[in-house]
Amino acid sequence: MTRQAAVALFALLPFSSVSVSQNVPASTSPANFPAPPSSVFGFHDFSAQARLDQTFLAVPDAKLAGEELKELTKAPHWASSPEDYATAVYVANKFKAAGLETEIVPYKVLLNKPVHILIEGFDNGRKIMSGPTPEHVDPKVDGGDPFQDDKRILPAFNGSSPSGDVTAPVVYANYGTPADFKKLAEMGIPVKGKIVLVRYGDNYRGIKAYDAQRAGAVGVLIYSDPADDGYVRGDAYPKGPYRPSTGVQRGAVQFLPIYPGDATTPGIASTPDLPDSKRIPADKIQSNWPSIPVNPLSYQDAAPILQALGGPDTPRPWQGGLPFTYHTGAAEGGKVTVHMNLQMDTKLRTIWDVIGKIPGTQYTNDWVVAGNHRDAWTFGAVDPNSGTAAMLESVHGLGVLLKQGWKPKRTIVIASWDAEEEGLIGSTEWVEAHPDQMKNAVAYFNTDVGVSGPNFDASAVPSLAEFIRQITREVPSPKGGTVYDQWLASQKANLGRHQGRPEHAPTASVDQVHVGELGSGSDFTPFLQHDGVPSTDIGSGGPYGVYHSAFDNYNWFIRNADPTFVYEQQQARVFGLEILHMADADILPYNYAAYGQHIEHYIQAASARATQSKLQLDFAPLEAAAKRLTAAGSAVESRQNMAGSDATSLNQTLRATEAALLIPEGLPKRPWYKHAIYAPGEFTGYEAVVIPGVNEGIDAADQARTQTQIGRLTEALNRAASVLETAAHNPQ
Ligand SMILES: [Zn+2]
Repeated sequence: MTRQAAVALFALLPFSSVSVSQNVPASTSPANFPAPPSSVFGFHDFSAQARLDQTFLAVPDAKLAGEELKELTKAPHWASSPEDYATAVYVANKFKAAGLETEIVPYKVLLNKPVHILIEGFDNGRKIMSGPTPEHVDPKVDGGDPFQDDKRILPAFNGSSPSGDVTAPVVYANYGTPADFKKLAEMGIPVKGKIVLVRYGDNYRGIKAYDAQRAGAVGVLIYSDPADDGYVRGDAYPKGPYRPSTGVQRGAVQFLPIYPGDATTPGIASTPDLPDSKRIPADKIQSNWPSIPVNPLSYQDAAPILQALGGPDTPRPWQGGLPFTYHTGAAEGGKVTVHMNLQMDTKLRTIWDVIGKIPGTQYTNDWVVAGNHRDAWTFGAVDPNSGTAAMLESVHGLGVLLKQGWKPKRTIVIASWDAEEEGLIGSTEWVEAHPDQMKNAVAYFNTDVGVSGPNFDASAVPSLAEFIRQITREVPSPKGGTVYDQWLASQKANLGRHQGRPEHAPTASVDQVHVGELGSGSDFTPFLQHDGVPSTDIGSGGPYGVYHSAFDNYNWFIRNADPTFVYEQQQARVFGLEILHMADADILPYNYAAYGQHIEHYIQAASARATQSKLQLDFAPLEAAAKRLTAAGSAVESRQNMAGSDATSLNQTLRATEAALLIPEGLPKRPWYKHAIYAPGEFTGYEAVVIPGVNEGIDAADQARTQTQIGRLTEALNRAASVLETAAHNPQ
């Protein structure tokens, strides 16, 4: 899964008429490289690094990335399958060939696999639908799809759904948000005892299941409406990039905002030898998995049910793209019923992370970790293997540097995660297995969907926003100029992932790229939100309607995303430079003045919301703590620019500042999440909630809880400020 893709569901823009194939961009070579900057934050003298960067940038190869993508996606490779293991071996061999110390690390984790899925719809007892219909497009139209008949494609299902056999009347609940369920209650349409039909989009699917279950539903069906990623957006595959009628979005419905990773081992690693006594039994994981059956549907299968529904017209914004008026379903009785029979084989299964290391020479314990998941719901050409192919080309570049005698100052760890789709499992278990190393990890660089189109975008903690901007100024874009130039242009044209959210930006500058916030939905979550490792997440987007379907395959990719793999090459270069700069910087390039300014802005926004909600809260000490952090960040910046012999202690102090932003007791109701500034929203899932303790207290209109959370955040900011002040006031 990926937050990027989730956002894309409702942020996709009607620009599908702009086909990449009309103007295929050419590969960029050293002749196109921008002149390297004369100075870069974190380096005393950038000239040597600039030469290294140029050598690196020349290596990632578009054609090779294409070959790697083709190999990785030749078969469906659901986590724990033999085909998934084959991709682990392939990636491990690539790591070894580049000179990385490589191991395949297994974990044993709880996964559900569909054995039998039956969904039947009835109108007054008459059968109107029997599914699921296999994903299929006409092979004779627009070239068809060469991958769709692969027998290894699992039936469309939701990860973390229990088995179940229920028959009940149906209610349509739009996107299944808290506001949607509230609206149904106001309309006098009870959800209790019903099967809830909701559409994908707006929030994380696990939250739809969470809210439906809390409202008393006995089952949930989640379908893809053509208004959200189908023909209303543009031509459907194979003619265009959008979801065809039989396309289904698989995906986890784990309660990710409570904790990610293996449901049986929150906070500890699911190593193969972990005794069962240390695990939560599979029948006692209700805080993390739904207790009611949940399954996805195509709109072809959902339409007959939706069309037959009685009851009142829905509120007009609930109307999707199907050619009839949407109704909610009847308040009582209900002539439309659905029979859901899901039989899951749920057990501990082995998954495989691939970990490659390049030992550092100077700061061996300071790990720079970079990763991408490898497992896919089906073929995973975009999600995630466009990221894997690019990462392999980044590794290719690091390998060339190693052969020329380069050694990084800090230890580099490259990770190919497994079972991300089921709930960030491979990354979470690995992070939980390395608590001491995570205290020294200086950065985690994530990519998930590496390339679904030509529009680069990035999210990061604010301390690394300028770091990522700087790097994109060194990399050429296939569109001309630098990646930074094109990123800024696409943001001005509102094509990026982060449009329309000015409340998160402290300065509405039109001349500087806005770097997004990290919510969840990918593997940075355990690093940042459990252990406070400063993180970034990068990728290049475009119209992408086949997310988590059988059609996310190599054929879709070369027709829609990146036919010449030049954005793969670009992605490999940006990802690789992130690793190189962080591994070799003299002084860690964290900008805490920028971080403090962001936090001040978050606090102002929260304070205004509290006033609107008529909550009586004292924000003054919190505002003072945030200002103190900004001031300490500014003071330490000059030390970062001039430190010499004391670099080691300054670096330790800088890393300790991020750790000081962890709240030891964690967030209310979800102690696994410890970061004071960023968390996945309890009711949004993938979307970031900033200063989550405070903002979710305000959402709950809980004055006492919010005041407590203001206190904890104040302490965290003062802790971080005081760590920085030690460095700022303690010259060599
Ligand atoms: Zn993914």
